[in-house]
Amino acid sequence: MESHVRTQLESLTLDPQRPLIVTDADEVVAYFIAGLERFLDRNGHWLDLKSFAITGNIRKRGSNEVSTQAEVKDLLAEFFNTDTELLDPVDGAADALRALNARAQVIVLSNVPPSAHAARQRWLTQHGMNYPLIANAGSKGPPLRFLEEHINAPVFFLDDLPPHLDAVAEHAGSVSLLHFIADKRLAALVAPAQNCHLHTSDWPVARAFIEARLESHGF
Ligand SMILES: [Mg+2]
Repeated sequence: MESHVRTQLESLTLDPQRPLIVTDADEVVAYFIAGLERFLDRNGHWLDLKSFAITGNIRKRGSNEVSTQAEVKDLLAEFFNTDTELLDPVDGAADALRALNARAQVIVLSNVPPSAHAARQRWLTQHGMNYPLIANAGSKGPPLRFLEEHINAPVFFLDDLPPHLDAVAEHAGSVSLLHFIADKRLAALVAPAQNCHLHTSDWPVARAFIEARLESHGF
């Protein structure tokens, strides 16, 4: 785990006896792909959503030429710079987290570039989700292991990307895994992650699942 991630995790004020919900941002509480499509449209590109990937699916408007990996990297960097605060919140996310926050601690673990950390925290506050934001880099397995070791109560993890869910299953085996993909077009393109306990695009469903698990553990 990179030291800047560890520093952020160590600075959290967590109650070890209280359940913890760790949620991703993009495509879980924020409509990432829809926002990216608006950005691409302004910049002469479009997303050909034929598979669960960004690289290889961005095309130049007109020629339909596929953008190279380097071009996609630049476009995404620019997107995070200009549009991080323009994303739409996922329906029901703020309400579900507010209700769950009565029984559990909530943090947001996002692989947002460090340069967009402040913008993303402002966006969360603006949309009624003023929870601590950890700007992670790379795998989410090690940060979840860190959190699991500090909490003696149920821990839940929500993410859209199967590799993150698989890594958490491997590093922090007691964590409940919710495979959450807000965009239903994307959800149709990817199979449920192998180790997930729930696969949904719907916050009320995720909330009910978490509440039932809390209930069964006496919280
Ligand atoms: Mg995501």
